[in-house]
Amino acid sequence: MNFCADGETLLTKDLDLYVKELVEEGHYAEVVTNLTRTAALEKYLSWDKDLLKRLEFKCSFHYLELKKKNLLDVFAENVKRVWAAGASANIEITPDDSLIPYIDDVKAYALKHFGALPHLTIARDDRTAGIDYLTNLSQEEYDKTWGQFESGFWQFKKSVFGVRQTDFCYAGSWGYYVDLTTGEATQCYCGRHLGNLFAHPEKPLPDKPIGKCEIAHCYNGHAFLTLGYIPRKYATCYGNIRDRIRLDGTHWLQPDLLAFFNTKLEETNQELSLLSQQKYIVASFANRIARALKWRIKKLIPNGKR
Ligand code: SF4
Repeated sequence: MNFCADGETLLTKDLDLYVKELVEEGHYAEVVTNLTRTAALEKYLSWDKDLLKRLEFKCSFHYLELKKKNLLDVFAENVKRVWAAGASANIEITPDDSLIPYIDDVKAYALKHFGALPHLTIARDDRTAGIDYLTNLSQEEYDKTWGQFESGFWQFKKSVFGVRQTDFCYAGSWGYYVDLTTGEATQCYCGRHLGNLFAHPEKPLPDKPIGKCEIAHCYNGHAFLTLGYIPRKYATCYGNIRDRIRLDGTHWLQPDLLAFFNTKLEETNQELSLLSQQKYIVASFANRIARALKWRIKKLIPNGKR
């Protein structure tokens, strides 16, 4: 389960209590954070060691901002605190053009404090229909500039970035996008509304796979596609691309968590027959048309007359 807020996740009141309950049930959790809120972090790190083995922090390394605010060492100390407590941390940087003059500094800092270079994500431009790269560099310059980090995470992201996924996707059945403030769930970043998961917690989770993806590309495919929302499509495993091996041979991720992150969803979920898959594809398509019509009607009819 990945927890990510609109803003800094560790500022979310009582999120540690939600995450703890879920980890106690046996789940594995990934919390996305800028790792500057030490007091909030310590609430998580006070858990039992057995629970911490199943907890990972995805640490967004905002090098320039941390430097500007004199928080670089707070970030580094907190990464070390996570590892020392027995949880996992992985460090990820957003390859923004403004960071290019500081690449050597970033690399030196990361090697000194984290024993390995940070992974890279891909900055994207959500304003474009194709959800394009957010950079002024040409593709060739971009690859040359950021390729020096040798990030397997970034390489996998790049391999699926811009690629429309046309095979049957189990988002909405094997995974969901849930707003934890309300319980409202959708199949994925796209797709249909699945109701409120908090309304009847005793009921099984919805089983309504999207089938065909509705967006230009699976921009968070580093998780969805490696975990296997589309069975057997990609051999790359999530744990391996999140992990790094430090200069001394040790790993960023704890062995239990790494092994779990390397499993595939098809190992523990039932796949549908081709006939059933067609049924869901038709249902998703019909729902998409209904949503589009509803949206048009909303635009045509003024508020007071609806
Ligand atoms: S292909 Fe990716 S973005 Fe599209 S529905 Fe599946 S998981 Fe979501």
